[in-house]
Amino acid sequence: MIRLTAENTARAIERCKQVKPKVQFVKERIFLVSSSDKTNFYQVQFNVINGERFGQCQCRASQKAIVCFHIIAGATVNIYRQSLKRQTV
Ligand SMILES: [Zn+2]
Repeated sequence: MIRLTAENTARAIERCKQVKPKVQFVKERIFLVSSSDKTNFYQVQFNVINGERFGQCQCRASQKAIVCFHIIAGATVNIYRQSLKRQTV
């Protein structure tokens, strides 16, 4: 998994704003995110280890340890879901 930092996510956040991919919830911390041409979906998953956030995607960029916009799109929804949960507890 790739450790997500402010530095390595900056470019992917910009890309994500341009592409506006679709995100589907699969199960806790696992999402499907559409490719830039919306013809394909990549599975993205997240983990938190010692307070640090990690993400992994099935696309080629992610295999080279590059944070892709799929991870950002999934992370955005993941954070939103976690914040909803906190409000209801
Ligand atoms: Zn990806």
